[in-house]
Amino acid sequence: MKTYQVNENGYYGEFGGAYIPEILHRCVTELKETYLQTLESESFRREYEELLRDYVGRPSPLYLARRLSGKYGCRIYLKREDLNHTGAHKINNTVGQILLARRMGKTRIIAETGAGQHGVATATVCALMNMECIVYMGKTDVERQYANVQKMEMLGASVIPVTSGNRTLKDATNEAIRDWCCHPSDTYYIIGSTVGPHPYPDMVARLQSVISEEIKKQLTEKEGRDYPDYLIACVGGGSNAAGSIYHYIDDERVKIVLAEAGGKGIHSGMSAATIHLGKRGIIHGARTLVMQNEDGQIEEPYSISAGLDYPGIGPMHANLSENKRAGILSINDEEALSAAFELTRLEGIIPALESAHALGVLNKIQFKTNDVIVLTLSGRGDKDMNTYIESNNKNKTENNNSNNIV
Ligand SMILES: *Cc1c(COP(=O)(O)O)cnc(C)c1O
Repeated sequence: MKTYQVNENGYYGEFGGAYIPEILHRCVTELKETYLQTLESESFRREYEELLRDYVGRPSPLYLARRLSGKYGCRIYLKREDLNHTGAHKINNTVGQILLARRMGKTRIIAETGAGQHGVATATVCALMNMECIVYMGKTDVERQYANVQKMEMLGASVIPVTSGNRTLKDATNEAIRDWCCHPSDTYYIIGSTVGPHPYPDMVARLQSVISEEIKKQLTEKEGRDYPDYLIACVGGGSNAAGSIYHYIDDERVKIVLAEAGGKGIHSGMSAATIHLGKRGIIHGARTLVMQNEDGQIEEPYSISAGLDYPGIGPMHANLSENKRAGILSINDEEALSAAFELTRLEGIIPALESAHALGVLNKIQFKTNDVIVLTLSGRGDKDMNTYIESNNKNKTENNNSNNIV
C-alpha cells in the first residue's frame, strides 16, 4: 500500500535520511535502534500517558467554534493545544523524549531553541525529571525573547547565547549538534520539531500523534464520524501539523492544508515560506527543502512569528507537498495578525501568532455548509502580546490619520 509515513530507512519519498558527521554515527544508530521499541513498550506508554493526562492536561478539548463557523459557513472545530501546560503542543514531545532519554541512561540534556518555546518546554521536563539542561539560543533571540530566557533559568537550565552566523535558530541548532559531537555518550539531544536526522522526524511525529488520536475519538462523539473534511495547521518545522494529521495521512477523504509563514510576501525577500521557495538540500542532518541562495548558502528566513522562521521543513511535509497530498498556503504577517484579532473577538481566545497563520487559511478556501474543519490551535498568545499591542496601536493611528483627511 502507498503510504506517506516514513520507510524503514528513514525516508519520506526522496526526503529525510540521516546525513550526520561520523562521530555521531553511534549515537544516532543507538537512538534508531531504541526509539520504536521503547515508544511502543507497555511501561513507557503507561508513564507517558499518565504525564500527558495529569501534568500536561490532556486530552485537550476539541471545541466547536460557533461564531467562527458562522462567519465561514461551515463547522470549525479548534483543537486546543493552547490549553496545555506551558501553552503549546511542544510539551507533548519533550515529555516523551525525556522519558526515552532516562531509559537510555542519559544524564545530560541539550536542546536548541528559536523563540524559546521549545527551550522552555525542555527546561520544564528537565526540572520535572531532575536532569541537567543546556539550551542553545542565538544571541539575537536571547535579546528579543528575554522573558523565555528568564523562565528557562528559573527552571534551572543554562541558556548559552550563540554568536555565530546570524545568531538565530539555525546557528543555535548547529551549536547543539556540535555539543552532541563532543559528549556523545552521556548526552541526549531533544530536538523540538519534526526535523533533524532520522529517527527524529518520525519520533517527534509519533509523540505528537496524540493530537490526531484524540481528534478521532472526539469527532466520533461530536459528529458521528471519526474524520474531518479538512485538517488545517501551521508549519514551522512541522511538529504540530504532523501530530494533527498523523492518523489521517493515508486517508484521502481528509484534505490537508498547511500554512507557512509568508512574512512580508513570498517574493519580498522577507519570508519563511520554505516549501514555496526552498530547493532540495541538506540541513541539520536531513535531505529536505531548504531556503538557500545559488551557492547553497542558507538564507535567513523572516516571519512576524518567531516559531515559524526555520529555513528548512520536516521531510514528511516536503514529501506531502511534492506529492500534492497537502495543500500549502503562504499566509503573510498582516493576514495572520488580522486572523488573530478575529478569533479573539469572535471566540474570546487569543491565539499564538504561529497558530494565527493556520487561522489565516479560513479566508482562502471556499467551504461547503456541511464541511467539518479541524484546525489546530498550536499555542496561546500570551507570549505575543507585545506584537499584538503594537499592531493594534499602529492600526489606531492609521485610522485616526484617515479620519483627519476626511
Ligand atoms: C514552535 C511553535 C510552532 C511551530 O513549530 P512546529 O514544529 O511547526 O509545530 C507552532 N506554534 C507554536 C505555538 C509554537 O510554539
